[in-house]
Amino acid sequence: MGRIRVLEERVAGQIAAGEVVERPASVVKELIENSLDAGAARVDVEIEAGGADRIRVADDGSGMAREDAILAFERHATSKIQSAEDLRSIASFGFRGEALPSIASVSRTKLTTSTGGAGGGTRVRAHAGVVLGAEPASHPRGTTVEVEALFHNAPARRKFLRSPATEAAHIAEVVGRIAAAHHEVSFTLKSGGRDLVSWPAVGSSLERVGQIVGPDDATAFVTIDRSGGLTRVGGLASVPALSRSTAREQNLFVNHRPIRDRRLLHAVQEAYVTLLPKGRYPIVYLFLDVPPEEVDVNVHPAKSEVRFLRAGAVHDLVREALMEGLGRSQPFYTLRDAPRGVAEAAPTRPDPGDGAAQRAPVPAEPGVLFDSVSLAPLAQFRDSYILASAPDGLVIVDQHAAHERVLFDRLLAQNRSGTVERQRLLFPVTVEVPPAERQAFEGAAEAFEALGFGCAPFGETTLIVDEVPALVSSAPIDRLVREILGEILEWRKAEGIDRLLLRIAATTACHAAITARRPLGPGQMDQIVSDLLRTERPMTCPHGRPVLLRLSLEQIEKEFRRR
Ligand code: ADP
Ligand code: MG
Repeated sequence: MGRIRVLEERVAGQIAAGEVVERPASVVKELIENSLDAGAARVDVEIEAGGADRIRVADDGSGMAREDAILAFERHATSKIQSAEDLRSIASFGFRGEALPSIASVSRTKLTTSTGGAGGGTRVRAHAGVVLGAEPASHPRGTTVEVEALFHNAPARRKFLRSPATEAAHIAEVVGRIAAAHHEVSFTLKSGGRDLVSWPAVGSSLERVGQIVGPDDATAFVTIDRSGGLTRVGGLASVPALSRSTAREQNLFVNHRPIRDRRLLHAVQEAYVTLLPKGRYPIVYLFLDVPPEEVDVNVHPAKSEVRFLRAGAVHDLVREALMEGLGRSQPFYTLRDAPRGVAEAAPTRPDPGDGAAQRAPVPAEPGVLFDSVSLAPLAQFRDSYILASAPDGLVIVDQHAAHERVLFDRLLAQNRSGTVERQRLLFPVTVEVPPAERQAFEGAAEAFEALGFGCAPFGETTLIVDEVPALVSSAPIDRLVREILGEILEWRKAEGIDRLLLRIAATTACHAAITARRPLGPGQMDQIVSDLLRTERPMTCPHGRPVLLRLSLEQIEKEFRRR
């Protein structure tokens, strides 16, 4: 007798459930998506013990008639597509007909639903994948699904559940992500009877994001809006003063569907490359509208990844859109937010118990650096900082970071126009380089040259430098070249040559810039500050650290009790 057998339906169901239902948050996600597909205007979620004991999702959508409510528990039963043809342009969240049967196969599930018509409602119960029956029940128009004892029959999975607080945090994140893309729907989330989320329907996704991030942070975003062909990207992106230590709050949506996409995250990172230091990540909510036929959503069981027909173009559009938005608006670091933005140590994901239920007004335009801000240097502090007076406050300028930004912009501008000013060294400098760096140099000689370095290999382990960009004339050349070679070693071809140019320019500017602990005369201070204000991004140095810190007049007057 052969040894291969077709699996019993129930076993197959549990295996499939493994793909769709990874943890309580995946149940919540699938149920909310069903509610949205049913046209719900409000979705109320309740959980107990992080969803492991109980998850309840109630909506006021279309509801189902009795036969449909029973059929919904059958594998591959869906009302959303009929043929493979329909897969090419999917407008609903669901289409695989897998969620309800998968959830039911690893829990005790109860679905109560009504179309609001005369016939009354229906309740269907299923236990570990077996439908126990359907009975009449009363329910307003809409559907309530209750899922109890998740994974009770899949001990291996149950064992892998994290603490209720962690699972609840994942659920809050899922609710937030879906809600962000559906501002016209009201959402609530209760955990163990406590309100975590209460977001009434609002008029725009900007207002919804304001509800999600809370009133304090809502002012630290810029709006994004750019189209390329039939693709459009809109949304919100945090200014450099508001950043996180993880990339978890980079929210991407394609046609209202939350997705993960490494390439697009890379585009986000590129847009912030000189605005945030290494290891800091912005908060973004980016909504992409892509023609359905240009994006394949059927590439992942949980539908959280998609494939773009023109992935490169979408990547570039996202980067350009962010750079445009961030370039328009350059808010000051203030004494309150500078430490958070830059030196904050711990991840700041809010515990769902603390203040997730915030309401906020529409994000206001952040304090923007007006075209013609005037900064008048008053004095130097500790030979490292320039204190300057601005019309509405006191500004502290990090002299090194400021000069670095000035030189960086100058070098790149010269590079772009092909007019890098070079200086021939009277005595060429030889730099000893280990084999790895030597290899790196070979791969990047062009970028070196384009930024004004005259550099050639000499023997196996030596480089001779006989020309440098004019602006670095006084820096120790061998240290600079060695550091640049280190940068090149870290650089990956996939990042693109532009990124390498930025890195080399940033390192060069850093070495050439005046250092901290150097006394400056009034003329030098004036020069640095006025040059800085003429750069495109005076707020951060090329490595993403802050340059200017403001104590506003209002803060000062408040502290002195004049207000
Ligand atoms: P899919 O969403 O992929 O179609 P599901 O297993 O999630 O598959 O749901 C099966 C079907 O049950 C859906 O196609 C829909 O017709 C129906 N359904 C599920 N949840 C709801 C709901 N909250 N309101 C109305 N109909 C629903
Ligand atoms: Mg579904």
